Amino acid sequence: MYETRAYSAAGAASPLAATTIPRREPTERDVQIEILFCGVCHSDLHTVRDEWHDVMPTVYPCVPGHEIVGRVTAVGSAVAGHRVGDVVGVGCLVGSDGTCPQCRAGFEQFCPNGVFTYNGADRHGTAPVTYGGYSGGIVVDQDFVLRMPGNLDLAAAAPLLCAGITTYSPLRRGGVGPGKKVGVVGLGGLGHMAVKLARAMGAHVVVFTTSPGKAEDALRLGAHEVVLSRDAGQMGRHAGSFDFILDAVSAEHDVNAYIHLLAPGGNLTLVGAPEKPLPVAAFGLLFGNKSLSGSLIGGIAQTQEMLDFCGEHGITADVEVIPIQKINEAYERMLRSDVKYRFTIDMASLKG
Ligand code: NAP
Ligand code: ZN
Repeated sequence: MYETRAYSAAGAASPLAATTIPRREPTERDVQIEILFCGVCHSDLHTVRDEWHDVMPTVYPCVPGHEIVGRVTAVGSAVAGHRVGDVVGVGCLVGSDGTCPQCRAGFEQFCPNGVFTYNGADRHGTAPVTYGGYSGGIVVDQDFVLRMPGNLDLAAAAPLLCAGITTYSPLRRGGVGPGKKVGVVGLGGLGHMAVKLARAMGAHVVVFTTSPGKAEDALRLGAHEVVLSRDAGQMGRHAGSFDFILDAVSAEHDVNAYIHLLAPGGNLTLVGAPEKPLPVAAFGLLFGNKSLSGSLIGGIAQTQEMLDFCGEHGITADVEVIPIQKINEAYERMLRSDVKYRFTIDMASLKG
């Protein structure tokens, strides 16, 4: 084992602070990566503050970060497909058994032995739980290391590893494409990626935002229309008209208002993971055979497919690059919906 610099939280009420963490020596299957950039996901904040206690309690110290882009510094003898010097990505997953029905179907995120990039059971015994990307380096099994397209800005591409795949996957499942009217609720990190992706897939895209100041940006990002969701008149004009709506809101809100906007047979998929349950009116779904779904990140093959799609279409996140020393301030701004539209940590700042 060796030590690397990182930022961790000591408890649910503690700010993130500089520390060192252990990393394993690369095994024959491992890729050792120097982290260049790490995106800041709202899930990092939920986890650091133990807001998902009932589902996935946080083990401290907690080192978040699952939108990782870095350079390969060493590979084990059995590693094929990644070489020293390659620019690679790591998302929300770093392990799975590879043999269960979910793994074989390409849904490693549902493997009973799956390992999340942080706050997951560390099967190598390096630490009680896995430590994520707010660190100088990481060692990852080769099957969970992604190839980054060569044409994308790396700081702006980091958020693809979570925000990108989390929105790409349900948009694909929802059959989003030409002739489809698609809504995106919440113009944050996930939401703005959904807008870019749905537009590139050829759909008619409508953004729902609580922030009037984001309306112009929504159009620039690729939306055809913007609705201020607190304006009942604007909402009413879209009643019964959507094929698919992706809800990427991080806090309590009224999903029934969006079910009302679905056309018969339409689907509302939740990717946002608010701390508290959301009430759903059954009749809203009954009239029109509408459905409500959820979606969790995406499997490894689909993550590579998404990266390649983004490379082809020149899609990255709109990022504000920050030094790691600004991470606590960034969390406060994220809570105020004041992010345009993803923070990315320049990991060189960790040495400062
Ligand atoms: P984010 O950047 O903070 O964006 C969330 C957006 O939701 C805000 O920008 C805001 O958009 C809207 N919003 C916030 N509070 C609201 C409220 N009280 N009422 C209505 N709208 C509100 O967060 P993110 O990183 O995109 O993550 C969004 C959610 O997805 C989080 O809960 C995160 O944990 C979850 N997530 C899920 C997965 C998955 O696999 N399913 C993966 C990653 C993240 P406007 O200003 O436009 O209203
Ligand atoms: Zn995330």
